[in-house]
Amino acid sequence: MKIVILGAGVAGVASAWYFWRDGHDVTVLERNAGVALETSFANGGQLSYSYVAPLASPSVIPKIPPWLLRRDSPLRFRPELDPGQWRWIIEFLAACNPRTAEDTTRKLLRLAFYSRDLMHDLVGTHELDFDYVKNGKLVVHTDRDSFESAKRLMDFMGTLGAEQRALDPAQCVEIEPALEMMAPRIAGAIYTPSEDAGDCYKFCNELQRIMTSGANPVTYRFGVEVERLLPWRGRLMGVETNRGVFEADAYVLALGTNAPYLTRPLGIRIPVYPLKGYSLTLPVVDDRGAPKISITDYKRKVVYARLGDELRVAGMADLSGRRAVIDVERVDQLVSEVKAAFPKASDFTALSPWCGMRPATPKGTPVIGATPHSNLWLNVGHGALGFTLALATGRILADLAAGRAPAVPLEGFTLH
Ligand SMILES: Cc1cc2nc3c(=O)[nH]c(=O)nc-3n(C[C@H](O)[C@H](O)[C@H](O)COP(=O)(O)OP(=O)(O)OC[C@H]3O[C@@H](n4cnc5c(N)ncnc54)[C@H](O)[C@@H]3O)c2cc1C
Repeated sequence: MKIVILGAGVAGVASAWYFWRDGHDVTVLERNAGVALETSFANGGQLSYSYVAPLASPSVIPKIPPWLLRRDSPLRFRPELDPGQWRWIIEFLAACNPRTAEDTTRKLLRLAFYSRDLMHDLVGTHELDFDYVKNGKLVVHTDRDSFESAKRLMDFMGTLGAEQRALDPAQCVEIEPALEMMAPRIAGAIYTPSEDAGDCYKFCNELQRIMTSGANPVTYRFGVEVERLLPWRGRLMGVETNRGVFEADAYVLALGTNAPYLTRPLGIRIPVYPLKGYSLTLPVVDDRGAPKISITDYKRKVVYARLGDELRVAGMADLSGRRAVIDVERVDQLVSEVKAAFPKASDFTALSPWCGMRPATPKGTPVIGATPHSNLWLNVGHGALGFTLALATGRILADLAAGRAPAVPLEGFTLH
């Protein structure tokens, strides 16, 4: 089949990979000059297969007022005259109940474990250079109550197959000596040895390299802006772009936060709104001062990943409109977080600040699979977990298109 993939972020590239592996004739359309130059560019680098519990949970409700009042809070809300933003908030609040949160966690965990299998299979069969490490992850709690509730969540996750254990501050430092400075503030941590990390941008470029160098290569068309989907009798007959119309037998829409604009004229509402986040990429100057294990500071919602000789630090979730513009105050806050947690890691002269727009759905579940247009498929809405989930969702789409049963039930991930 001739397949056109719209968007070359990690969701689009992973989709291209599995369609290409099935022998299809694949073309990827991307408005930028290369792959993974938007939200997939400098994300937190966590392949966080066991930490998939959604933001929408009952525990978030009491935290919202302080988050709204403090300028340095990990989540920030700036109201916009945008019905899409308000609708997203209403749906988010509706999802903040125990039943929905547990159900979502269960489904995401299944998807994430499948993605982990696919990643391990991939790195086991191909030489991929993307600073990939199987280093495990420590989620550090500085607050006793939050550590206690994390232990309860750990017990629940254990029933679903996650292998985790609770550590006291001394055990944290034993496993990750760079936590020494932070140790007096630590109440405890949840350790998951089976988590991985890597550089998402390099990962996408590596997959692109392989797909374009072998037999039946994938065609990447850069500088192509998709302007309109062209429906005809329950199907798409093409996509209109600034470089003319592209036609295919089937289309995969993986346009991140832009997806809803393209599908709206077709009557398809995708509940995605951008949640802005920030990252820094710091050269490591003191190997022992920078963590080798991935760390999450749970209270501050900051993640740390060692990527080669650099430390990637990411955090913040700002519901503040659709423009991917860096707010210098947020970058300063992130720098302060690193200086407090790992002061020796870097000399902080080169920060490489970046912001990206997480394509977030209110419940935290990606939207994948069929649409009312028989040859249009969706692969969007991965929120804070795009790198973690992309292989699973890409593979599921290729399976659906080939008429194979997907390895993970689609319930909860489809449009309706
Ligand atoms: C600060 C931060 C930290 C994060 N940390 C992690 C993490 O540690 N682990 C993890 O798993 N996830 C993480 N994420 C989430 C992850 O980065 C995203 O879920 C993922 O990148 C989304 O991928 P995507 O392909 O859906 O979107 P994108 O990467 O945005 O790709 C969409 C592509 O579509 C293209 N496009 C859009 N409109 C058009 C158009 N009209 N025509 C042509 N092309 C178009 C864009 O240029 C873009 O390349 C983080 C995100 C942020 C912001």
